[in-house]
Amino acid sequence: MSRNDLLSEFFSLFFPKVCAVCGEELLSSEESLCLRCMYKLPRTNNFREKENAAEKLMAGRIPFERIATFCVYTKGGVLPPLIHQLKYHQRKEIGLLLGRLFGEDLSGSLFLEPVEMIVPVPLHPRKERQRGYNQAYLIAKGLSEATGLPLSTGNLIRVIYNPTQTRRTRTQRWENVRDIFRIAHPEFFQDKHLLLVDDVITTGSTLEACGIALNRCRGVKISIATLGEVF
Ligand SMILES: [Zn+2]
Repeated sequence: MSRNDLLSEFFSLFFPKVCAVCGEELLSSEESLCLRCMYKLPRTNNFREKENAAEKLMAGRIPFERIATFCVYTKGGVLPPLIHQLKYHQRKEIGLLLGRLFGEDLSGSLFLEPVEMIVPVPLHPRKERQRGYNQAYLIAKGLSEATGLPLSTGNLIRVIYNPTQTRRTRTQRWENVRDIFRIAHPEFFQDKHLLLVDDVITTGSTLEACGIALNRCRGVKISIATLGEVF
């Protein structure tokens, strides 16, 4: 047992691990989420459904194959506190866990069958330093562990820190979106079917900006997976 393990055993005597959603004490077999809350995850199962709501949202904006979202992001539901703790409270293990659960659902599906590589939406390096990690990377890592698909980081890169989209003309906005992401080595993604991964899809503008950059790679195909959908 390492020193860290010993310390965490010691602390768990006084601060038992609790469910990230309901706050109930966890059993030793549970991680981050109690079973009751896990069953309450509002799965969309929309990877089985062509022309689902997420696909309709992105239709005509970038070329893509399929889009799947794991859960509906309903106010008062199970997903919002999980995403919040993942993004703002250093609960990295929540990203891995939800990514793994999503990956288990997708494994063996027609949705996943053509996919060759998982690519998380990158943060700008400055933002990643501030937070200490990229939540989309953790979700993608969980997905990769559950599906056995390789993970690519560092090829899709975010070059603009914080695009403020207010008070810009439509053309300026378009130019802004076009330039947020770049591909370091386009030949690496050439002729590959990529699964682009993010935490939630809301307006779809981040995924659109990634899609614009990725489509500069010859023969690339894009599918998209996010944990939550907020429309
Ligand atoms: Zn719970």
